[in-house]
Amino acid sequence: MKRNLSCPCGEQITGTDEDDLVEKTQRHLAENHPDHEYSRDEILFIAY
Ligand SMILES: [Zn+2]
Repeated sequence: MKRNLSCPCGEQITGTDEDDLVEKTQRHLAENHPDHEYSRDEILFIAY
């Protein structure tokens, strides 16, 4: 299961599971990169 994601801005995002990781990543994007939107599939594709 993928629970980690390294944002290109340098932020490390870690979730308790995939759902949590997707939620935290989308929140990070909304707060820090409002011009970027990623779907769940795209987030999980770059997660590890
Ligand atoms: Zn970022």
